[in-house]
Amino acid sequence: MTALRGHPVRGTFVHAPERGALEVLADAILLIGAEGNIRLVARPGEPDHERLAQRSDLMTLPAGQVVIPGLVDLHIHAPQYPQLGRALDVPLEVWLGQHTFPLEAAYADPDFARTRYTVLVDDLLASGTTTALYFATVHREASLLLAEICLDKGQRALVGKVAMDDPAACPADYRDASPEAAISETRAFIDAVRALPDNDRVLPVVTPRFIPSCTDAALAGLGKLAADCDCHVQTHCSESDWAHGHVMARYGMSDAEALDRFGLLTRRSVLAHSVFLSDSDMAIVQSRGTGIAHCALSNMYFGNAVFPLRRALDKGLNVGLGTDISGGPSGSMLEACRATVQASRMLEDGVDATEPASTRGVPQSRVDMLTAFHLATAGGGNALDLPIGLFRPGYQFDALVIDPDAPDGTIRRFGETDPSQLIEPILYTATRPNIARVYVSGSQVAGHA
Ligand SMILES: [Zn+2]
Repeated sequence: MTALRGHPVRGTFVHAPERGALEVLADAILLIGAEGNIRLVARPGEPDHERLAQRSDLMTLPAGQVVIPGLVDLHIHAPQYPQLGRALDVPLEVWLGQHTFPLEAAYADPDFARTRYTVLVDDLLASGTTTALYFATVHREASLLLAEICLDKGQRALVGKVAMDDPAACPADYRDASPEAAISETRAFIDAVRALPDNDRVLPVVTPRFIPSCTDAALAGLGKLAADCDCHVQTHCSESDWAHGHVMARYGMSDAEALDRFGLLTRRSVLAHSVFLSDSDMAIVQSRGTGIAHCALSNMYFGNAVFPLRRALDKGLNVGLGTDISGGPSGSMLEACRATVQASRMLEDGVDATEPASTRGVPQSRVDMLTAFHLATAGGGNALDLPIGLFRPGYQFDALVIDPDAPDGTIRRFGETDPSQLIEPILYTATRPNIARVYVSGSQVAGHA
């Protein structure tokens, strides 16, 4: 079962259209269009189901396997994969200057970039990340190479050439030469990605690294460029005490306010972290329709606090989840789901056992695993304004086939067959061997034959 395009596919599909709730499409038939889009969703008993079940090209999934939407990583630094699990014990500004910038600078060499990006994209696809919103590096050539590798391997990707031009904040050998260069190189990168042959799934992204590494001229120019090119935007916002304080000291306003003044908050912008958003910041972000990439695991190392996820969701913000490789030491979006739940529980209960329980935490902060699942799929798709993350007509068929009984896997079900009961054990305990096959736009991109 390698290519599903053009075929009806019969199986059990589970997705999360709303936070905290599942929809189980048991023994359903999805008709996949020639472009990899879902054309029909037919449930047992419906006339379309009876009709499609008769088709000779019907493909039927093995009993017991469960299909979930592809996972959307809303924040990941592709070049940092080689330092996964390293240097996690230093503060953000030291981590950047002493570890991360020297590593990223090495991507000036396309051969260095090619080997590392190839391994990364293979690993992410095998882990079920069907869409990734990538920071690349400052180099246009290597960033384009990442886009080409994603296209070649079939991953849906949004890729940004990183813009960082402030000589006072960035190493001499790793920055844009000037604000003008940051803008013109970004423009050239956007044009090059859009010109890639047969490109039906990789988009360019305007990517000012974050305010502390950019000049005002670059930030303003990139905001204008995003509007001119009708392009996605990504950056970091209020990640740590240091980053939050830097922007406050520089502008006398918050990160979100400053980014908004530079025209960088749009419906297709994604802000990583945003741990320190105030209520008024959230109101600005919500009014722009801007997305938030919540990176719970990374925030445990570099965030200095827990992002108030539940408050953001209650205010109607568009939130998805990110791994933030390598601020977070795992590329697995299933791990991101787990960390999201755990962080929210720590926030609600509090962490200092010497404090009374009544004042130890922040009430009403917890989210459940089904909410994390929603955010990692439909939430990510919504933040990107792309038709992914749900099994609905008009959406792309990006999906993982989960085999709970894979011999090397880690799901144990002891006879349980109800998919609605099985989904939480899948999300909490699945590992890569349980991901039998991975599809993007109806084409298989990873897993068994
Ligand atoms: Zn980041």
